[in-house]
Amino acid sequence: MVAYKSKMVEQISLPSSAQRERNLEEAGYNVFNLAAEDVFIDLLTDSGTGTMSDDQWAALIRGDEAYAGSRSFDRLESAVADVMGFERVVPTHQGRGAENVLYGTLLSEGDVALNNTHFDTTRAHVANQGADPVDCPVSEAHDPEADEPFKGNFSLDRARSVVDEVGAERVPLVILTITNNSAAGQPVSVANTRRVREFADEIDATFVIDACRFAENAAFVTRREDEFADADVSSVAREQLGYADAVVMSGKKDGLVNVGGFVATDDEDLFEECKQRAILYEGFPTYGGMAGRDLAAMAVGLREAVDEAYVADRIEGVRRLGSRLAEAGVPVYEPTGGHAVYLDASAAFPHIPDEAFPGQALVCELYREGGVRGVELGSFAFPETDRPELVRLAVPRRTYHREHFDHVVETAAAALEERDAVSGYEIASEPSVPELRHFTATLEPRSS
Ligand SMILES: *Cc1c(COP(=O)(O)O)cnc(C)c1O
Repeated sequence: MVAYKSKMVEQISLPSSAQRERNLEEAGYNVFNLAAEDVFIDLLTDSGTGTMSDDQWAALIRGDEAYAGSRSFDRLESAVADVMGFERVVPTHQGRGAENVLYGTLLSEGDVALNNTHFDTTRAHVANQGADPVDCPVSEAHDPEADEPFKGNFSLDRARSVVDEVGAERVPLVILTITNNSAAGQPVSVANTRRVREFADEIDATFVIDACRFAENAAFVTRREDEFADADVSSVAREQLGYADAVVMSGKKDGLVNVGGFVATDDEDLFEECKQRAILYEGFPTYGGMAGRDLAAMAVGLREAVDEAYVADRIEGVRRLGSRLAEAGVPVYEPTGGHAVYLDASAAFPHIPDEAFPGQALVCELYREGGVRGVELGSFAFPETDRPELVRLAVPRRTYHREHFDHVVETAAAALEERDAVSGYEIASEPSVPELRHFTATLEPRSS
């Protein structure tokens, strides 16, 4: 059921086929180098790319820009308390700012942090403290065909074997990422969250939830976890987050804003320590690296994120895109997660070996065929790992409609039809930091 009508529009256009070919060549076959206005449907990321509501725009204009004691901060504090259940908030410029504040407080050299799967910036911030980020996904997480409801769950078996190996005293931090962004946006059950809480207590660790997509996760719980079949999204969100000692949040996801983030907790001591670190890296604790107007818009966005009509529209829209792609013969990761549809590039282009980047080839074909921008999350983005060759089509919140998705489906089907003409790519130039290769490397087509 559609939940919105338009009130402001932005014109988009599809460059000609010849122009798209030139753009791709000039971008070194890396879509991060494309100008956004040369992209027709932009599914590069769901982070900060969504559309704000009229209530958010109204709040923005009423933002209080006071350095200390801003009214907009009070609004954010009460939204976080009502929606997420935490009384103390440290605002930051975005999610990674919150990670720096919280993990810089909780971790020291030689520690180990456990997470269902560390998101890139989380991994980098854990490593930046001299600590070791260890992933504990369930085994079905990386199987594109396993039809399980909670493929984002945290594996307690893996976590226990890490603790047996390194000793509990080296593991002060357990993180649960909901939904599990790096595992195809798959949700985590409340039952699993409870077990992670118990496990953290057993080893005397702090339990943090990376809550970037907490509302989408709660929506999946109401749809897939029997105990919550009659519950509403907002009460599930509060229950699930309530098991944690603290949350880190990127407002660019389920805060429904273009920028912002925060740490929230009920722990007085942790709050005080985070505030001190936030002053150093973010700003005074009642604005923390955000304009007052942005705090105000995020306060409204958090409440909207757990609205049943919003979240149903969101989950259903992504699911429909996934199932229409599958019907058109495009191999998709099943079931679809909360914020994106993942395509299985090895199945789409079986004739292209991993070392010729089938995922990047698919990304280039989507742009070439229809001006659609997705992102490769396979061996181009993650050299030296044995991840599946996936392409992510991330869906900005409240931005694209059914006609846009029809175009995406037609484009992907056309790209697959032409598959024999595609022979893969090789790297032409790459930066010195291999972890960040896919942002700036350039490629060239492999001769067939
Ligand atoms: C986006 C994201 C972050 C980082 O947030 P930014 O606002 O991009 O800095 C951290 N964790 C997860 C799971 C994310 O999806």
